[in-house]
Amino acid sequence: MTAGIGWDSHRLEGGRPLVLGGVEIPGAARGLVGWSDADVLTHAVIDALLGAAGLGDIGQHFPDTDERWRGADSIELLREVRDLLPGPVAHVDATVMCEVPKLAPHRDAMRARLAQALGLEPGAVNVKFTTGEGIGFVGRGEGIAALAIATMA
Ligand code: MG
Repeated sequence: MTAGIGWDSHRLEGGRPLVLGGVEIPGAARGLVGWSDADVLTHAVIDALLGAAGLGDIGQHFPDTDERWRGADSIELLREVRDLLPGPVAHVDATVMCEVPKLAPHRDAMRARLAQALGLEPGAVNVKFTTGEGIGFVGRGEGIAALAIATMA
């Protein structure tokens, strides 16, 4: 059994869709800024998987200087990473740190979307949410961060 961790954060800005775990959050006033769709949760999961497989990090595989990845759907990147893995994924657990909006209503959709991309049952992907309690860049609503751990059989 191997395990890997992943961490990511992106800045929030008006006029962009908010995509987390491959799910566009309806009615979100601001979205994340990045080279791809800036899906911070999916990026953390990708880095956790690459860590568990000993395959480096997301920036090595999908550099932000490569036009192919501009505006990329991060779920597609996750599928590409799945195909690089030497063995099956056993479990993924993640925490999203976000002040607003409330994300709990979208938990099941995120679990299902991430699990589907990895060929797993939704029960093998856990997604948790927490706020910044008003402090730090998350608490001030400047950005969203995510942390993930993946285990491979
Ligand atoms: Mg990222």
